[in-house]
Amino acid sequence: MILDFEFTAELHAKTVVRLWCMERQTYRTIITNKSKKRREQLMGFLKTSHTLKDLNDAQLSKIIDSMEEVKYQDKDVIVREGTEANTFYIILKGEVLVTKKVHGHQKQIRRMGKGEHFGEQALIREVLRTATCTADGPVTCFSIDKEVFEETIPIEHLELFDDTKVLQEVPQKSSPPSTLKFKDLVPMLYQEGRYQGDPVTLGVGGFGRVALMTTVNHGKYYAVKRVSKKHIVAKRQEEHMLFEKKILKALQCDFIVRLHAAFKDTRYIYMVMEFCGGGEIWTKLKEVGRFDEPIAVFCTACVVEAYAYLHKKNIMYRDLKPENLMLDVKGYVKLVDFGFAKEMVRGDKTYSFVGTPEYMAPEIIKNQGHDFAVDFWSLGILIFELLVGSPPFSSSEPQKIYAKILDGDIKYPPYLSEAAKSIINKLSRPRPGQRLGNTKNGIKDIRHHRWFGNMNWHKLRVGQVDAPTVRLIRKGPCYINFDRFPPDLTKADEEFSGWDREF
Ligand code: ATP
Ligand code: MG
Repeated sequence: MILDFEFTAELHAKTVVRLWCMERQTYRTIITNKSKKRREQLMGFLKTSHTLKDLNDAQLSKIIDSMEEVKYQDKDVIVREGTEANTFYIILKGEVLVTKKVHGHQKQIRRMGKGEHFGEQALIREVLRTATCTADGPVTCFSIDKEVFEETIPIEHLELFDDTKVLQEVPQKSSPPSTLKFKDLVPMLYQEGRYQGDPVTLGVGGFGRVALMTTVNHGKYYAVKRVSKKHIVAKRQEEHMLFEKKILKALQCDFIVRLHAAFKDTRYIYMVMEFCGGGEIWTKLKEVGRFDEPIAVFCTACVVEAYAYLHKKNIMYRDLKPENLMLDVKGYVKLVDFGFAKEMVRGDKTYSFVGTPEYMAPEIIKNQGHDFAVDFWSLGILIFELLVGSPPFSSSEPQKIYAKILDGDIKYPPYLSEAAKSIINKLSRPRPGQRLGNTKNGIKDIRHHRWFGNMNWHKLRVGQVDAPTVRLIRKGPCYINFDRFPPDLTKADEEFSGWDREF
């Protein structure tokens, strides 16, 4: 079709000719409508993808712009089981057979048609194909490669999910979700030493204690935090406890401790958490004095991931410090303790005086109103403490700490690298608006800082980075990375005011 205003050649009728003609405008309208329709259709297809469902239309539209059409003949293998997966496909036309090798035979597990897609896991994980997809008759697919995809959509915009539903055999009958019951939890006991036979206590706080428990059936470990209700009321912590439970329950991030269940009785409330078997970062830091750079980079990177997740959900953490970071058995870091977290609308400020003095941002101390930027301030303090062994602004008196923070002068020991000093400086800018992580590009600027030069964020997110922290984790009985505590022989008083109705 000629779209120029001038014809590029002369055409002469040789006989009597009857022509069908179409005006340019009509043609363009038809084509435009067709591609619009096609875009809408593709958009609809993409929206059914679990991995892409949280992207907005502009982002999905970008993906569509980067996708390519590919055609296959009957019997063409589109993807083969066991090979590396790096492409995501949507079927536009035709049918695809999904087969899997079972006991040496190819077994058909599904047939997919128009609008169905496969390989979405390839976009976010390094995976091998778990099945073979073959064209059944001519097939047209729309595809995007992982590299192109990553250039188009920052991976942090994706919701990662654990189950690889795509291409997996559809289960015949799904088993009902197992719910954890309080009566199924049994305490783990110390197997040797001074407290042999006593229940394992992982930690004791002002509040109560955290016990190591298991279930008889599947032998998974849980860290169960038990807090006296009377104590909560006495300390006016009702709202805090309710909020901490509510928020933890709603969070599902590999860098945040999981809350599996919550219970209460007349004396206590209980929070059944995922057990972080590697112990506290704080303890490890005290043991070795200070962390070498790869360990500090790795720990901080995990916190950055937790922050990205929380901030996307409009939650500020506000209590970063080594005491609130725990290691799982793989050496990955998780945030625990959500007592100071707060949900807040972007653009708002809050005026509460919260946090741990050493980690408080100047705007909290000055009561100027604070927001998400305080989490980036504390990240700078954390990096310093991990690399040096103590925070940059410290004193036995909080007032003196605050004065130092407002003064803002950080003294760097000579062994700190230039990159480390640079990132700490940028995170501890007194003006929240200039702080790394809180400017135009957001948390991306932190990820791209040269201190994280060797970090593969994508692999970190999917748990494929070898954690350098494993060196810090002791092997032995499951409680070996924790201090030991004598059993608690006291019993809290009963409490009936009813504040815990929603717990
Ligand atoms: P405090 O105010 O004294 O810090 P807290 O109410 O904040 O107490 P936590 O920090 O949640 O309580 O837990 C106290 C200790 O219990 C932790 O420092 C840690 O040693 C242990 N602990 C907490 N959660 C877990 C977990 N999920 N896995 C393993 N140990 C845990
Ligand atoms: Mg704590």
